[in-house]
Amino acid sequence: MTVPLHPCVRAYVGLGANLGEPVAALQAALCGLAATPGVEAVRASSFYRSAPVDAGGPWYVNAVAELDTTLTAPALLATLQALEQAAGRERPYRNAPRTLDLDLLLYGNARIDSPRLTVPHPRLWTRAFVLHPLHELAPERVSARALAAVADQAIERCDPPA
Ligand code: ATP
Ligand code: CA
Ligand code: CA
Repeated sequence: MTVPLHPCVRAYVGLGANLGEPVAALQAALCGLAATPGVEAVRASSFYRSAPVDAGGPWYVNAVAELDTTLTAPALLATLQALEQAAGRERPYRNAPRTLDLDLLLYGNARIDSPRLTVPHPRLWTRAFVLHPLHELAPERVSARALAAVADQAIERCDPPA
């Protein structure tokens, strides 16, 4: 019997960290994604620094990854959560500082609304630290108007990761 392959879908993942070694954590997560069976062609945006939104704590390092995947969206989310666990992610309270946060931003053009997974990510359009790196990789998916709507949020591009 042949098992039908899931079609290849282009997805975007938001990466963020503000505890421990954020740049190293994001780089390790990008390597982890690239090493995941069913994930191909991982491409990273520049890294950005941004002030925490709705929370205190150190500034964040953020980036977005583009990838092509034959994983289903729930399987990709499980992969992201395993990478967060490997980085020592804890959730003491909402918006707590974190060693690594990986959000599934877009999964092709899919709209998903299940108890554990909402895609597109529901807060995607309100966050400069997501929209700027996403615009860098996929300008056709982020309008000038969307960027203008988050122009008041403090964000700066870091040097490209080594
Ligand atoms: P925010 O969602 O506002 O960015 P957060 O990233 O801090 O907040 P988490 O504690 O990391 O929130 O995740 C809470 C739950 O969100 C997860 O258990 C997961 O099931 C759910 N979730 C729903 N949609 C998504 C998505 N698109 N990407 C990642 N997690 C999601
Ligand atoms: Ca998040
Ligand atoms: Ca998250």
